[in-house]
Formats: sequence, structure tokens, C-alpha cells
Amino acid sequence: MWRDKDGVAILSWFSKDVEQVLNELQVNQRQGLTDAEAQSRLGTYGENKLKSKPKKSIVALFFSQLKDMLIYVLLGAAVITLLIGEYTDSVIILLVVILNAIIGVFQEFKAEKAIEALQKMTTPRALVRRDGDVVEIDSKDLVPGDIVVLDAGRYIPADLRLIESVNLQIEESALTGESVPSEKDASHVFEDPKTPLGDLANMAFMSTLVTYGRAEGVVVGTGMNTEIGKIAKGLDETQTEMTPLQKRLAELGRTLGYIAIGICALIFVVALIQKRDLFEMFLTAISLAVAAIPEGLPAIVAIVLALGVTRMSRINAIVKRLPAVETLGSVNIICSDKTGTLTQNKMTVLHLYTHREFFDVPDEGTATASKRTQEKLIQTFVLCTDATLVDGESTGDPTEIALLVLGEKYHMPKRELEAGHERVAERPFDSDRKLMSTLNKEGSRYRVHTKGAFDNILKIATYALVDGEKVPLSEQLKADYHRAAEEMSDQALRVLGAAYKDTDEIIEPEDMEKDLILLGLVGMIDPPRLEVKEAIRQAKLAGITPVMITGDHQHTAAAIAMQLGMATSLGQTISGSDIDAMPEEEFKQKIGNYRVFSRVSPEHKVKIVKAFQSHGNIVSMTGDGVNDAPSLKNADIGVAMGITGTDVSKGASDMILTDDNFTTIVSAIKEGRNIYNNIKKSVVFLLSCNLGEIVAILASVLFFWPMPLLPTQILWINLITDTFPAIALGVDPGDKDVMKKKPRDPKESFFAGGAALRAVIGGSLIGILTLVAFYFGLNEHGYQLWSGSIPEKVLTYAETMAFVVLAVSQLFYSLSMRSASHSIFRVGLFSNKYLIGAILLGIVLQFAVISVPFLAAAFHVQMLSLQDWVIVILFALIPLLVNELIKLGMRVRNKQ
Ligand code: ATP
Repeated sequence: MWRDKDGVAILSWFSKDVEQVLNELQVNQRQGLTDAEAQSRLGTYGENKLKSKPKKSIVALFFSQLKDMLIYVLLGAAVITLLIGEYTDSVIILLVVILNAIIGVFQEFKAEKAIEALQKMTTPRALVRRDGDVVEIDSKDLVPGDIVVLDAGRYIPADLRLIESVNLQIEESALTGESVPSEKDASHVFEDPKTPLGDLANMAFMSTLVTYGRAEGVVVGTGMNTEIGKIAKGLDETQTEMTPLQKRLAELGRTLGYIAIGICALIFVVALIQKRDLFEMFLTAISLAVAAIPEGLPAIVAIVLALGVTRMSRINAIVKRLPAVETLGSVNIICSDKTGTLTQNKMTVLHLYTHREFFDVPDEGTATASKRTQEKLIQTFVLCTDATLVDGESTGDPTEIALLVLGEKYHMPKRELEAGHERVAERPFDSDRKLMSTLNKEGSRYRVHTKGAFDNILKIATYALVDGEKVPLSEQLKADYHRAAEEMSDQALRVLGAAYKDTDEIIEPEDMEKDLILLGLVGMIDPPRLEVKEAIRQAKLAGITPVMITGDHQHTAAAIAMQLGMATSLGQTISGSDIDAMPEEEFKQKIGNYRVFSRVSPEHKVKIVKAFQSHGNIVSMTGDGVNDAPSLKNADIGVAMGITGTDVSKGASDMILTDDNFTTIVSAIKEGRNIYNNIKKSVVFLLSCNLGEIVAILASVLFFWPMPLLPTQILWINLITDTFPAIALGVDPGDKDVMKKKPRDPKESFFAGGAALRAVIGGSLIGILTLVAFYFGLNEHGYQLWSGSIPEKVLTYAETMAFVVLAVSQLFYSLSMRSASHSIFRVGLFSNKYLIGAILLGIVLQFAVISVPFLAAAFHVQMLSLQDWVIVILFALIPLLVNELIKLGMRVRNKQ
């Protein structure tokens, strides 16, 4: 619907009746468009997407890397070296700048691509009728004229003129800001072309949300030609939120940066007082600042997170918000739905019950209802469904499909029943009432068919059908029914009740669920997922308590929880009504005793999350329904179901399970723990390296020693150690025992567990050994650190030794960073192929710089003697060995 500048609709679909709209759009409601027609319209109208902001080109990304204070300083240094004729130095500095930028572009690009790929996986899909069948397609493939099917919990995928609606309510806050859902009705026609958007009851607009009811609509506007398209000036698709850790590290990076600048300034001032070569010291201070300021830290963390979430998507967990990755590592309570997550969601009706009579339903083949009441019971169950089952192909809720299969077994297929008993009104299922009703024609009259949770059915029934007679539902009868239901629930069966009543005229939905006549019950099995038992065992080992939250009955829930090892007795269960009866404080106090919450509604879920959180727990909560959004948002990790979940629940969640499986939550927690640990490894490694460089230079200046490293050498080392080894640590395969440890306390410092000490010890050792190697080189030629004038050649030789030790010790040290407690052999020396690759690459490059004559000349280094190569390699191994010894000591102490 396009409007002119006065807001008057030009193509006002809302002022035409349904038939006219369908005619103009050349589509048949029952058939929808043909695939060929849809394809051709897609060519004409383009994809149904809101335009996103133009992406940064690679070149722009490259130049944005250069927008950094440090880089400006380096570029300044390059110009100065150029002016005074130190051409090789200026070339090296420029090369470092360019290489750094290229690596930066690569990291940013890779991280962005990973996030984008994840976002693609979560783009909404739409139910459309094409070639006569209802199919689910990507919303972006919708075209004007498509017939779209809507139900509660779905986002409206394009602008629609409604053509059919049942109790439809749509929340339009995305468009109008109004958060109270509007009632919609396809049969309205608005003559006035100036009718405000908010009043257009026969239209549904893109990005708004169905909160209740169902409907069909025909697409009248797609992409930017929608109401939302007109107000959206371009979406920023890759909005990335910083994780708490990223924020803390950015803060840390800044602080360390200032400290580094302080130290560099100090070095420069001291050198000034010592009357050293000013220009040389200026370059040294700048290079050291570049090397020591952990400017690469945010990029490394971003790429480790991005690669981590990509890995998680391969195990069926799509992380929507990056902070969730970190929180996952701290989760100690998993609240999980039952149906579909812990169980297979493959329902089969096993038993029927009418007053005092159980009947077994045959596994295969057909049967005949032996009694009139039994026949009526099945009829009500079949008519009161929205699922479909045609030639063995089904769509819809598995509970309902099971009922349709039951109908077919008893020669009552839904199609045939509905042909004789057309549906004229309905009250849809919701998880608060746990009931559903339809009003169907029954000869010249009408009949209400209601099905739902048996306890709720008992509450709204006042009569029962006993041996074909309508009798008042006495307490005795109720008790009989309860006993029968519990008998089935105790066998882990889901029990549903059915009731009916006849009316002379069409009644309002609110009047349907009153004074009903109870027909009977069905008991259906939903087998537990086999793999869940092991996942629950693992979760418990990892210090995580899994609990079940279900809309199902207490006994059914308890039976399944016990089969899965989640609960040990009925005493660990509590029902929604018990929660309501308990004062909030008491509930909070006792929450830790429960493992199963049964017959809960979505509001209870929020209460449960809050009660767990009040004890400092970090809670993950699953959800799929329209009303689950508040609990998903309240939980520390909201987990939505990818298959059965509504768009609303997916929108409110932090993570989506593409397989709806509980096991995936546990795997995701494991990944979350690994990712956090890996970030820690990278960061501690980076800081150790930087510290090593500072120690070597600072000590030399303070003790009046000659400089062990030239500025270009410092820049070079920074390039080969800060990039690839750090990233390789970030994608470490991880600790095999990670799920044998307790969850991480979210308040715990990043440097807890001796990480800071490791960085300080490692860094100091690297720095000291660099100086020792330098000393060695001088000493071999008969000079000391404090000797007055050392010949250029000797100095170069000693510098080369320091240069190799500083670079190679960092590379080796990275191996030891892989585990804070286990030896490198236990972790597997070669189990991180990337790290081995990064170390080898570093060593080869380092060797190349020394052995290729023109590089050696540029970096002012010399070939070492074989004996000195052995010495520098041995020196370079020391930080690794010392760290391994410290770990050994810790292990021995812990054992004692
Ligand atoms: P979970 O919350 O573990 O996924 P659930 O699927 O049992 O469990 P709900 O979908 O809220 O949770 O269902 C709650 C109860 O409502 C069920 O136990 C059942 O008795 C009843 N019920 C479920 N589906 C329907 C339906 N389509 N029509 C009528 N009643 C239903």
C-alpha cells in the first residue's frame, strides 16, 4: 500500500473487498500462486527484504585499520627515517603497517562473515500456499499475490490484505508503538483512504506479530514497498554487541596501553639523560609502544568468539547474542521443557478410557469403536484439531497428529468427519488454559468439541456420558476419572480429556468452555530421547542441575524425569497450582528442592527463573510458545526451539537449538566453557609476550646497557607472535576435562586461577632470557654489557641472539598456554594443528630473516654459529619448561 506525501493511500487494498483484491493480484485463494508465476514476480518485484546499510568494502576496511594513533606515530616514524636516509627502516616500518592492516582486515572480515552466516540461519520463514500446497519458504522469496498462512507466534513476513481470520490479534508495536495487540478482521472494508494505519483491521503489516488466533492473507507489498520499509531507512544487519568480557578487556587494554606509553616515555627520558642516540631511542620507544600496547586484543577476542559461534552452529546451537557465549560457561541450572526437548515428540495414543473402561488402541491396523461413547470420544478428539493428516503426510502439533492417527485407526479420518461437521467457530489452544474448543455443525444444530489437559476438562464439565446416558458429574465420577488418569500418567503417558455440548445457535468463544459433558480420556506415549540420559549425567558431573518445566501433569512429568535420571522421587516435583498457593518467599527458599515443575504456565516460568536467580544461580531456560518471551528474556540464557518454536520465542532468545534437543544445550555449555578458556589463553599469551619485550628494553635502559634489539626487530617480532599463535590458541580444541569442573563464577576475575602470575612469570622470563642471550653474544666476543665501545659487528651478533630468543621463546611458550594445569603431553603436543603450524611458520620466517642476505641486512642481523643456534634454542625453551614445572608442582600439591 503506497501513500502519497499527505499520507493518503494510493493503492488502498483495504478499501477493496477480498474478491477484488484477489482478482487484481491474479491469484486463487485455495491454489495460491504457481511456482513459475512466483519466480517471475520475484524477478519483477525483487526480494522481500528491507535494504541494509551498504557494507564496508575491503578497501574501506583496510583504511579503517589505519585510523589509529599508534599507526599515525609509526607512519610519522617512517617519514622521518625516509628524510634522514634510513630507507630500509622506513620500508620495514611501512611493511609492518601494511601487514598489520591486512591481518586486521582478514580478522574483521572473517568475524563479520561468521556472524552474518549465523544471522542468515535465523531469518524468519513464512507459510505460503503455492501450487495448492502449504509450504514453508524463506520470507525473502515472498512476492505480491502470495497467500500467506498465519498463526499465533509468527511474524508477519510482508504487508498483507487479510482474506480470512479467526480471532486474530496482532501486536503492531514495531510499526505504531502500540504494544496492546489490535483485533483484526478480514471481512472489514474501509472506504476512507485516509484511515489511519492503526485502525486498518483488514490489513497485517510486515514485522508485526500474531499474538492470537489464525488467518490467511494475500501479500500486497514486499521489501521496501511495505509500511515498515518506508520508515526503515536501512537496517544495520550486523549489529554486534560487546560481551562483558570484551568490555572488560577493552578497559584492560586501555589501562595497559597507558602504562606502556608511560614506560616508553620513561625509557625515552632516561635515554635522553644518558645521552644515547636520540633518534634511535625515539624509534625504539615508538616500536616498543607498538609492540607492548595490546591493540590486537579486541580483534583476537572478536575472531575467537566468531569462530567459536560458528563451531557451535555446527552442533545445532545458534548463538544470537555474543554475550551468551560467555554466560553459557557459567550456567549452573538448565530449565528444560519436556515435550520435544527431553522427549521425542512422537506421540502415539495407547489407551482410551470412558467411564470405568480402558481400551487398548492397536499398534497397527484398524479397529472399530465398540461403544457409542467411545465413538463420540474419538470424534471430538479428531474434530477439535488444527493438524492435518492426508495420505500419511502430517502437519501440525504432534499431540494432535496422534489424535488424527487414532481417528484413522477407528475409520474416522478428519477430512470425512469435517465434511459432515463443518467448523463454524473456535477457541484456540493456549498454554494457560491448556484447552482447545471448536464449534461444528451437528445436523441443524451445533456442537462444541473441547479437548485438553484432563484436570482442566474436569473443571469445566458438569455432566458425564456414562453408558450413553448424560448424568451429573458427581464427586464419585470425578474420583474415578482422576484415578484412571493417574494410572496412565504414572506410566509416563500424556493424558488428554474430551468433552462436548450441543447448542442451537453459534455461540461466542468465551461461552464454549462451560457446562460440558465429559466423554473420556486418551493416554499417549511420548518416548524420552535416548541420548538425553547421558547428557543429564554429564551435566550433573559438570556441576549443573537440570530441571524439567512442563505443561504436562505431575505424574507424567515425574515418571519421565525419573526415567531420565533427573529426579528421584515424586517429592521433588511441584505443580503450578502449588506454586500459586505458596508465598513467594517460601517458594524462593525451597526452589532448590525441586527438579520437576509440572502444569506450569508461562508466568510460572518467570517466577521459577527469578527464584533460582535469587540464590545467585545462572539459569538457562527453554521456550517455544508465544507467551514464553518474558521467561526467555528473564533467564540468563534464553533458549528457543528451532523446529517447534514460534518466531516470538526465537526473537526473545539468546540461543536457538536447531534440533530442539536437550543434549545440544549441554554441548553448547561445553563449547561456551571452551571458548572462554581459549580467549583467556590467547590474552594471557599476548600479555606475556608484550611484557617480555618491555622487560628486555626497560632493563637495558635503566642499567645503561646497549639496546639488545633494534626498533624494526621489535616490530617484526610483534608481527609473528601476536597474530597467528594467538589466534591458534583461540581455536584450541579445548580441555577434555572441561565438563568435570564446576561452572565458572561469573564474578570471577579474568585473571583468577593464577593467570596473572603466569603472565608475569612467563613475560619476565622471556625478557630476562633475551638479555642473557644478548650478554652471551657479547661475552663470546670478549665484551660485557657494560663495556664502553663495542664494535658494530659484535653488537649485531649479540642482537641477533637476543632477537632469536625473544621471538622463538614466545612461540614455544604458546604451547604451554594450552592448559593451566595439565602438561603439554597430556594435552597432546600436536593436538592443536593450527598452533603447531603457527609456531613452525614463525620459526621459518625468523630463520629466513637471518639467512636471506638482503633481509639480514635490512634487519641488521647476522648468521649465527651452529653452537649459538643450539644455545638460543635451548634458551628459548626455558620459559616453556619453567611453566611446565610450575604446573607439575601445582598438580603434586593438589594431589596431596
Ligand atoms: P512442555 O512444556 O514440556 O513442552 P507441554 O507440551 O505438555 O509440555 P503445553 O503445550 O503447554 O506443554 O501443554 C500443556 C498441556 O495442555 C498438555 O499436557 C496437554 O494436556 C494439553 N495440550 C497440549 N496440546 C494440546 C492441544 N493441541 N489441544 C488441547 N490440549 C493440549
